[in-house]
Amino acid sequence: MDVDAGHGAALGRALPTAPLTQRLRSFLSFQGNDDDPVTTLTRTHRAIHPSADAGILRRSYAVAENMHRGQFRKSGDPYITHPLAVAQICAELGMDTTTLVAALLHDTVEDTSYTLETLHGDFGPEVTHLVDGVTKFDKAFYGKVAEAETIRKMIIAAGKDVRVLVIKLADRLHNMRTLDARSPASRARIATATLDVLVPLCDRLGIQALKRDLDDVVLYHLEPESYARIDEHVKNRPGWDEYLGAVSVEAQRALRRLRVSADVKPRPRHYYSIWKDTVAGGHAVPFDLPRLAVVVDGPETDCYAALGAIHGQWRPVAGRFKDFIASPKNNLYRSLHTTVTGPDGRLVEVLIRTVSMHRCAEYGVATGYRYPKFDSETGTDQLTWLKRVLDWEQDTTDAGQFLDSLRCDLAEAQITVFAKGRTFELPAGSTPVDLAYELSPDKGDQTLAATINGRLAPLSSQLRDGDVVEIFTETDGRVEVEPGIAPRGPRKEWLGFVKSTQAQMQINRYFAEENSPGISIADKVRLGRATIGLTLRKHDRGLASEVPLRRLAEELGYPDLETMLVAVTERNLEPDQVVEQLIALVDHPD
Ligand code: MN
Repeated sequence: MDVDAGHGAALGRALPTAPLTQRLRSFLSFQGNDDDPVTTLTRTHRAIHPSADAGILRRSYAVAENMHRGQFRKSGDPYITHPLAVAQICAELGMDTTTLVAALLHDTVEDTSYTLETLHGDFGPEVTHLVDGVTKFDKAFYGKVAEAETIRKMIIAAGKDVRVLVIKLADRLHNMRTLDARSPASRARIATATLDVLVPLCDRLGIQALKRDLDDVVLYHLEPESYARIDEHVKNRPGWDEYLGAVSVEAQRALRRLRVSADVKPRPRHYYSIWKDTVAGGHAVPFDLPRLAVVVDGPETDCYAALGAIHGQWRPVAGRFKDFIASPKNNLYRSLHTTVTGPDGRLVEVLIRTVSMHRCAEYGVATGYRYPKFDSETGTDQLTWLKRVLDWEQDTTDAGQFLDSLRCDLAEAQITVFAKGRTFELPAGSTPVDLAYELSPDKGDQTLAATINGRLAPLSSQLRDGDVVEIFTETDGRVEVEPGIAPRGPRKEWLGFVKSTQAQMQINRYFAEENSPGISIADKVRLGRATIGLTLRKHDRGLASEVPLRRLAEELGYPDLETMLVAVTERNLEPDQVVEQLIALVDHPD
């Protein structure tokens, strides 16, 4: 069963359709009336945050409209329709006014003559940080790695303020919805890229309300025929609504008998989720079971009482019960899932959760913005994950490698294995070596053998959910090792099968240290480069090519770049000084 909730959130689908000139005229002459282009945005925002300041929305819209004037989307629409739609998506998510202002201005710095400095003067540091976080690195300047560097920059900015990612996701959602004007090849390329990183990021941040819409628009572009077939299926199923209505009423009655107060509603799956189950099950027609959500108005324990009521009413299907309250998913999703044989022998899926679990399931990191008074640790926990991503990011100098690690960390499939009486979450496809490095870097380095469920297994064996694993090392005294003969440390070929970022990094680090004992010139060069990389990141910047570094070395009178990097390592040159000059060089190339 899937975690998603029903489709139909319809985020940002209500775009103003009046021609721009007409809307502008009314904007200038009748501020605040229904033709005002920011009316819908303001109304949506105020419905969730009644005391929000609409003036600042109007002001940022005016600046954005003015800067983008004369620019058009590939569809022929005036450019301003895009930032307005992105702000609308953010508003429907329940984001705060600052996010909406930044959303309206999100493309000004990248695509117009408006600078970060002016933005800072006009709207302050918070909005500037958000806009800068979603501003792409210049392709002409950064070359092929611009995309990877841009993602890294965005993740770093999101580590300080997660609203950067919310704007980026809303931006991509609207761009995906307006891809029809593009060629099929570029539609497929953009949809695939979205599926690659942004959808998993959205999932990890727990913003299901946004992820459903992203999922569906990706399916629409990548599998248009499947999308059409599912659309047809969803729109034509006689008796479906009546059946779900009747089951809801019966469920409500069963809950009341056990004195559980709860809201019971049909919870339709979104198209992508139907498609996934259809493909996974090898079904010829769209596979979609009726589904209910039971949101209990009470403490966590009421969820189990509700489960008892549902299972007392209809026979549960064996093997379909999942307790994500006791064991939350890696994005902290919590709920009980079960499938029962409902009236007329039809299978019905049931999700059971509390009000606060329901809110977190829908909005994830955005929950605290939508419900400012809502007391929850969820948001902070999801940010802990982001901080962890940034921790290992510090160890990666290459943006492409960073992106690979991020992808791996975001991999949707996770398995749980048991070792030393504890549970460990690993990426699907992990091996005993991945587990060993998860236990500790030393343990990883010294791994000799492993048993899976009590039987000796090759170190490259792929672990499965629920496996019990034991790791044997050189130093635990349980393996006979002939002194002086046993090769110490990890093997290079492990890199061919390990799955986790942790294991890859540790093995690479081991061999890097192994190959250059002591501090050589090469080490000093590498250290200098890493120091500059770290210092740049403190300024939320990154470098994709060495061109600006080489130019700076030349300007500072060093014979070559390597000599300058050695000077940084030996502290003959202050890294802050280098970075300041580097930024000046990149921002003002002339
Ligand atoms: Mn944009």
